[in-house]
Amino acid sequence: MDVTIIGCGYVGLVTGVCLASMGHNVRGVEKDQRKLATLQRGDCPIFEPGLHDLLTETMKNGGISFTDNVKQAVKEAEVVFLCVGTPPKADGTVDMSFLEGAGKEVCDALAELKNEWLVTIVVKSTVPCGTNRKLYNFLKEQVPGAHYAVVSNPEFLKEGTAVQDCLNPDRIVIGGESPEAFRMMRRLYDPLIKREDHFMTMNWESAELTKYAANSMLAARISFMNELTVLCEHYGADIEEIRKGIGTDSRIGPAFLRAGCGYGGSCFPKDVAAMEHISKAAGYESLFVHAIQTINANQKKRFAEKIATKLGRPVQGATIAIWGLAFKADTDDIRESASIDVIKYLIERGATVRAHDYKGMENMRAYLKEYADQIEWSADPVTAAAGADAIAICTDWPQYTTLPFRKIAATMNQPIIFDGRNCLHRDVMRENGFQYYPMGRPPVEKELRLKSRV
Ligand code: NAD
Repeated sequence: MDVTIIGCGYVGLVTGVCLASMGHNVRGVEKDQRKLATLQRGDCPIFEPGLHDLLTETMKNGGISFTDNVKQAVKEAEVVFLCVGTPPKADGTVDMSFLEGAGKEVCDALAELKNEWLVTIVVKSTVPCGTNRKLYNFLKEQVPGAHYAVVSNPEFLKEGTAVQDCLNPDRIVIGGESPEAFRMMRRLYDPLIKREDHFMTMNWESAELTKYAANSMLAARISFMNELTVLCEHYGADIEEIRKGIGTDSRIGPAFLRAGCGYGGSCFPKDVAAMEHISKAAGYESLFVHAIQTINANQKKRFAEKIATKLGRPVQGATIAIWGLAFKADTDDIRESASIDVIKYLIERGATVRAHDYKGMENMRAYLKEYADQIEWSADPVTAAAGADAIAICTDWPQYTTLPFRKIAATMNQPIIFDGRNCLHRDVMRENGFQYYPMGRPPVEKELRLKSRV
């Protein structure tokens, strides 16, 4: 089928490349000229495992191409995906300007097209309830004779495993009112549908709310576990044991029960905040959704405070190695990452930060440019730790677990690790002479002799 993707960010690019790999003829529209030039060269503007190879392969066989010409791309399509960003505004409500802009461009194209065949416009961006209906009515008003349908198709992929998630979806949710458009979407996704009941059709509002509900539920599980770390640390319980103890209950299940120094990313924080505003707009104050966010913000702060209180010396003048900047492993996305809160907290109290990440360095360097003088960017974690007063782990990159810890301890001013992701083994830390502070787990504490600073 002829498919146009408007917005080639994380979601649009992964969707476009995966659809092309399934044999569809895909045109990606991107208005950011730098990103567009990168894509037209066959390079990936983002890091996502497997994406670059699939992009190369699909570009080579002509399955996907990139342009900034929306009108032309829409005119050639049966299915038009809107994959533009819906970032949060300062007050937590959703910034709809990109979606409105893209909707207007589709509208102009439809006005010129005068098509006889059905053009299905697919809203993949995460949008508040009522958006798809509004878009449908806007088009009906602006281009009364046009033959089109609007469907909501929320995306559930996870950064870091986006290609795998896109090619192996748990379910495909389609919201709308047009049986013809439902059939078109069923045909589009046919190679991915392994069980008929995993292709779900519903009304627009249900599909829109499904996306917010899913992310709020997942964030709630994390926040609940994070809240439990406070009790664990007080009573001497171990959150990892509790995770196993409750995760094996078939009513609960094991997913999203890992405690840490707070969730981040481009989705959970903004979608949970949006859920709160969606509730407010309905005249309902959601105490639950509000609590998820408060606990998350507190957890990031609690981690930073733990570093300050257990450091054994004033933060002022200390050097702290931050291992991990991306909001999670296997991505270069640093949006709302816990590391941002921790770095700012430490720098504002007079520390020097040595930052390391396997993929997110460039993005963080651009994001924290006003802190440039207080941050040293380290090419590897071992260098970051040398001479430091502590290491704080903010991202669970698996590479951090297999480092030469004995050597690292010997080069540090004082061998302390604050493990915000519980990714290291307590016994390994003890054996290698570290004072070790995980989240919600008994620490490894001992007398440390401060080395004299050179
Ligand atoms: P993104 O910011 O990475 O990408 C959006 C892209 O759209 C940008 O490259 C931007 O330049 C482009 N764009 C904006 N307006 C355009 C226009 N008129 N024409 C052409 N290009 C345009 O955003 P993202 O992370 O891919 O998210 C997109 C949507 O998907 C959001 O609503 C988000 O909430 C949702 N979502 C994201 C994820 C995720 O993991 N990133 C997962 C599920 C859902």
